[in-house]
Amino acid sequence: GVRHEPTNKIVLDLERLYDDASEELAYVARYARAIQQQRGDYNGRVLSIRADDLRSLAIVYDSSPSGLIERLTEHGVLVADPRALFAS
Ligand code: C2E
Ligand code: C2E
Ligand code: C2E
Repeated sequence: GVRHEPTNKIVLDLERLYDDASEELAYVARYARAIQQQRGDYNGRVLSIRADDLRSLAIVYDSSPSGLIERLTEHGVLVADPRALFAS
């Protein structure tokens, strides 16, 4: 069968993503907007995305899923624990 890289749930911080002015994340932002639209999920501060979609996005960036996760981490747009965002 298909081998999957072990990944935790990928949760994007939408505020940071949409505020990020760098050209580098433009495709991720566009993708997130499309997913919000498909789900009708407009009011969230965060968005959980499919591992499959991360794989597709990685191809766009000529990277691996873990490589893309690294970039997203560098830009500070990944949420490690979404519940912590709402705790304070
Ligand atoms: P679909 O893939 O046929 O999924 C139908 C519904 O099943 C979704 O409605 C959602 O309620 C549920 N569902 C499917 N997969 C998951 C999952 O991994 N986790 C959870 N929590 N629920 C799941 P929803 O959200 O209104 O989405 C409607 C359609 O929009 C989906 O139909 C799919 O075609 C598309 N879509 C939504 N989100 C994504 C996404 O993140 N990636 C992709 N590729 N398509 C998405
Ligand atoms: P919440 O909506 O109150 O959900 C609390 C927990 O219930 C989630 O923790 C998750 O464990 C479970 N849960 C809620 N909806 C689903 C679902 O559709 N499928 C599954 N399998 N579990 C679900 P989690 O994932 O740590 O999320 C914490 C909070 O982060 C959520 O609180 C919500 O406010 C936010 N969040 C996470 N992902 C999304 C997202 O894709 N869209 C939006 N709008 N909010 C999200
Ligand atoms: P989650 O809801 O906690 O789902 C965790 C994993 O369970 C998903 O990882 C997927 O492998 C599987 N799963 C859950 N529901 C379904 C389903 O209806 N159909 C199928 N084929 N698999 C399902 P995945 O795909 O990496 O998604 C990660 C998270 O992204 C989900 O966590 C959920 O929070 C969000 N998500 C993914 N697709 C959708 C969607 O279509 N609609 C919504 N509302 N959320 C989604």
